[in-house]
Amino acid sequence: MSTPNGFHLALFGPPGAGKGTQAQRLSGELGVPHISTGEILRAEVAQGTDLGRRAKDVMDRGELVTDDLMLDLVHSRLHHQECRRGFILDGFPRSLGQAVGFETLCGYDASSFKVLSLEVPQEELVQRLKDRKRGDDREDVIRQRLAVYHEQTEPLRDFYRQRKALLEIDGVGSMEDVFRRLLARVGSA
Ligand code: AMP
Repeated sequence: MSTPNGFHLALFGPPGAGKGTQAQRLSGELGVPHISTGEILRAEVAQGTDLGRRAKDVMDRGELVTDDLMLDLVHSRLHHQECRRGFILDGFPRSLGQAVGFETLCGYDASSFKVLSLEVPQEELVQRLKDRKRGDDREDVIRQRLAVYHEQTEPLRDFYRQRKALLEIDGVGSMEDVFRRLLARVGSA
């Protein structure tokens, strides 16, 4: 996955799996930017931009922003100069439409793009999410976000497994343990 053009990675997994924390650490370690679509959207909402206004209700309900909007957003980010040595996506792709669009629009396929999947059992996820404090972390919204994950995002595991781009990592344990496992997989892939 470290091609001559750098690291092209996505952290994948259900809400609460630890994608954000691990993506940030990995970004520091590898020296490539962490691109969290959730954070970008929350910033757009806070700034009251047109995109933010369109995304807010959907986010508050724990549902997914449309594929077209997300593909536009990611496409323009990846063309920033800072991504010339690669990137670590966090929270994208999140639907089959996004995964297919990412390949065609952005040109990343299994030969250069790897998906690091954090594996965490469902009961532990709900508990972890309840311990966080975010507007969309109320229990009903949590359950909705997990349902959306199972319905729309989980099928991507097979999509990337078929392309031999999926690297499964045990996401249970301390932040440090999980990070070491991630680094080992990135190093050996
Ligand atoms: P996150 O911080 O990744 O959990 O994202 C928070 C919320 O932003 C999600 O529940 C979605 O409503 C929205 N969102 C983030 N990334 C995406 C994406 N790739 N596709 C659609 N919606 C997204």
